[in-house]
Amino acid sequence: MDCIFCQIVDGKIPSNIVYRDEKVIAFPDINPLAPTHLLIIPRKHIPSLDQLSEAESPLIGHMVNVANQLAKREGISTRGYRVVINCGKEGGQGVYHLHLHLLGGRQLSNALG
Ligand code: 5GP
Ligand code: ZN
Repeated sequence: MDCIFCQIVDGKIPSNIVYRDEKVIAFPDINPLAPTHLLIIPRKHIPSLDQLSEAESPLIGHMVNVANQLAKREGISTRGYRVVINCGKEGGQGVYHLHLHLLGGRQLSNALG
């Protein structure tokens, strides 16, 4: 499996894992776009949101909850933050292993597109 995020899950590529549980891990984005820029990913290889089954969909709630906890830990929860999932080519997805971005620590633009 040449998926870079699976290799991070498996510890084959070292990363500063800031959170882990039985379902997900979180680590800093290699190219941070804000003072806090963490990626929250499932341990299971799910290529994109588009390929998430209904049975797997509670995972998204869990990932959002972890983002919420990490935002508190990072001290950005009251100031505000953004969670983003890019899906597919036109959605701007670059790594085809489902992930949620947690961005904060600066004023983010209102632009979504
Ligand atoms: P996407 O564009 O797919 O939503 O986001 C992929 C993110 O993964 C990008 O923000 C990119 O900087 C980050 N990324 C790509 N490769 C690596 C890596 O090897 N390690 C880490 N920590 N982040 C990565
Ligand atoms: Zn993967």
